[in-house]
Amino acid sequence: MDKFTQNYVDSFMSELIAKNPGEKEFHQAVREVLESVAPYIVSYPHLLDLKIMERIVEPERVIMFRVPWTDDKGEIHVNRGYRVQMNSALGPYKGGIRFHSSVNLSIMKFLAFEQTFKNSLTTLPMGGGKGGSDFSPRGKSDNEVMRFCQSFMTELQKHIGENTDVPAGDIGVGGREVGYMFGQYKRLRDEFTGTLTGKGLAWGGSLLRPEATGYGACYFAQAMLATRGKTFDGQTVCVSGSGNVAQHAAQKAMRLGAKVVTLSDSNGYIYDPDGFTEEKIDFVKNLKNVRRGRIKEYVSEYPTAKYFENERPWGVKCDIAMPCATQNELDAEDAKKLIANGCFCVVEGANMPTTPEAIALIQGAKLLYSPGKASNAGGVATSGLEMTQNSIRQHWTSEEVDEHLHRIMSDIHDACIKYGTEEDGYINYVKGANIAGFIKVANAMADQGLV
Ligand code: NDP
Repeated sequence: MDKFTQNYVDSFMSELIAKNPGEKEFHQAVREVLESVAPYIVSYPHLLDLKIMERIVEPERVIMFRVPWTDDKGEIHVNRGYRVQMNSALGPYKGGIRFHSSVNLSIMKFLAFEQTFKNSLTTLPMGGGKGGSDFSPRGKSDNEVMRFCQSFMTELQKHIGENTDVPAGDIGVGGREVGYMFGQYKRLRDEFTGTLTGKGLAWGGSLLRPEATGYGACYFAQAMLATRGKTFDGQTVCVSGSGNVAQHAAQKAMRLGAKVVTLSDSNGYIYDPDGFTEEKIDFVKNLKNVRRGRIKEYVSEYPTAKYFENERPWGVKCDIAMPCATQNELDAEDAKKLIANGCFCVVEGANMPTTPEAIALIQGAKLLYSPGKASNAGGVATSGLEMTQNSIRQHWTSEEVDEHLHRIMSDIHDACIKYGTEEDGYINYVKGANIAGFIKVANAMADQGLV
């Protein structure tokens, strides 16, 4: 990066940090994008004059609200709800809702910012947004979760709509939570619309939406592997997390011929040296989605597997690593272990799971590496397909949805190659995804005037 561009990045980041103190995840996400797009911005001075980057980092609107609810004993609790409506240049705000005790404004803004570029990459007409609460569904009864979701939606419904803002699921928000929120939305607004995605199949949901993020990450990985003449067949894969994204990434990688050996949750990871099978994945789905248990219970069912308390899976020898749990879950020490063990590909299923220091090591060693905004875009893309099916009041088959998903992931991969291929031939997927995602949003903002 030349001196002028570096100065632009440095002064931009100083102002951003001063204006948004303490929001470290948001700073991290902005810096990553800015470092990729700054050379592009300075080469098109009208983007500098229009202050496009200054406008992109400022949410169009942030809604923060009180969410009071009562537990089964009648005790009152108060959580905080958020919706960050980041950017509507390309379409209605679109992005998930996260229920997790760690949720704060910084995490909401980082996710909404990333979502803007991810949605742009899908080529579908969706702006960027994100929402959530510091409420954790873990250990709560179905009735408690329902009361919380109803209270959350009682406020949120004032700000969303099928042409305004269309939320979906994320950490802690699956089919159950989307159902409760949709029910309350419908009751209060007296309308049956596609305002939430990730709905149940019988009431407007799309086939393959639950699978889409994990499957899409594997389709993206297939395209990456193909650039080096490789496939999933016979590769050993480590997956982190055991929720929606992890379950389906593991399942698809396995179906493509890989041996998938790990899954995790926030308490530890399991290592199954024999690899997962359809039956084992079904066990995990039932354990996590129905019984709402912990991943360590896997070893009681399959005793040849081992459980490692308070550890992450990145020390296990593998060819391909797929972090699918949460942000900053793979750090520099983990990256060193992966590289030393011969891992040649890191595919993000989660949002920003790899720290900047780890990314530098991974890219420095010339591993294949894709950022979540490219490789996990299949989830929101299929949400976009759910919106289309709702609008035309039709239901596509799994094959039709899968075909769209495949095409979208392959197009995103092509965009990364176009904007991310470096002089030595190395594909910098971070740069490619950031520039490709940014150009469309920036041009749309320029076209739409100063709003
Ligand atoms: P789920 O709630 O279904 O699963 C989350 C998994 O991550 C759980 O296994 C959870 O373990 C684990 N986890 C959560 N927090 C931590 C933590 N601090 N440390 C270690 N593990 C943790 O969420 P999803 O699978 O939907 O989401 C996973 C990631 O994928 C997130 O980054 C999300 O933003 C991203 N994503 C999701 C999409 C979707 O369609 N669902 C789309 C695109 C991205 P535990 O049970 O202990 O909490």
